Amino acid sequence: MITVTRTSLPPLEEYVSYLEGLWQSAHLTNNGPLCCELASRLKSHLGVANLELMANGTLALQLAIKSLGLRGEIITTPYSYVATTNAILWEGCDPVFVDIDARSFCIDPDLIEAAITERTTGILATHVYGYPCDVDRIQAIADRHGLKVIYDAAHAFGVNYLGHSLLEHGDCSTLSFHATKLFHTGEGGAVVSRTAEISNRLFLQATFGHRGEDNYLDVGINAKMSELHAAMGLAVLPSVADYIAVRRGLAELYDELIADMPLQRPAALPGLDYNYAYYPVVFQDHDSMLRVRQALLGQDIVPRRYFYPSLNTLPFLRQDLRRPCPISESIANRVLALPLSTVLTPDDIKRIVNLIGTGLR
Ligand SMILES: *Cc1c(COP(=O)(O)O)cnc(C)c1O
Repeated sequence: MITVTRTSLPPLEEYVSYLEGLWQSAHLTNNGPLCCELASRLKSHLGVANLELMANGTLALQLAIKSLGLRGEIITTPYSYVATTNAILWEGCDPVFVDIDARSFCIDPDLIEAAITERTTGILATHVYGYPCDVDRIQAIADRHGLKVIYDAAHAFGVNYLGHSLLEHGDCSTLSFHATKLFHTGEGGAVVSRTAEISNRLFLQATFGHRGEDNYLDVGINAKMSELHAAMGLAVLPSVADYIAVRRGLAELYDELIADMPLQRPAALPGLDYNYAYYPVVFQDHDSMLRVRQALLGQDIVPRRYFYPSLNTLPFLRQDLRRPCPISESIANRVLALPLSTVLTPDDIKRIVNLIGTGLR
């Protein structure tokens, strides 16, 4: 069976060597040496100054919202994973959906200002599939209206844009290190923030608001990463550049083989140093997507309707939050993320593309 993602595992000995250290120290959590080492290696790998590890990417989103003090309405994208919307709702805020750009699949900056009200406090947008949002225009809008900006950068590990880490944009960028992501710790995440002050608040809020012996300084939650998860991250990190190189080769083969097919891809962006996190294709209509999906499933190849449904149509949303987002709904109805992982071979890609051709006929 071929699935859309497959977890890349480091050589077992490398993980075990970290575990041996843990058996010596019996220090399994509470910001131990492996978490400190992982945080510091990630800062240099990603080229960012402030990074706090978290237990997962959803808590990273929740704490980013909390640490920036967002309340009321948060303008957000309908085209992302459900965690983006859920984090807003869980923090007691209202998601205000703004449709996406039909070429980048990221939030459309032209539509943001019309959605701002006196209750708006922030913008939470996703760099979808690792492709950058229009960060400069979003920042200009935020500055004009005194709003905070958070990027859900769960797909954007290691993406550079115009010579800088994409994670430098916004007040906070959140990462997921879930097992299905390009870089992973099994379960895990992080928040990259613009200032040390935000980062310190995040650290405190992720550790019960408890500092030192008897100091309880803020409302907090437990969002700590354990040493076992940090060990996985330390074992995986040295291979990430190789993973990206393999994925790039496979993605370029897809590009070549689907070139004459009626499939839309996210628009190429000059100055983008991409991480090949996903390979989405958008079909001309819903039926051809379903036919191709069936053709692939028939051969035990499992693509994913990623992202579907459009988040503005989630069944549990309050009626007044379900604003129409026609572009997002249309793309969500026609998209498949094709399998892309380090275990695939060029022959697998050729087989997949042949089946797409069969489904389209
Ligand atoms: C994976 C993902 C998340 C959630 O991260 P977890 O670590 O699984 O909690 C949030 N947003 C996006 C866009 C994701 O892809």
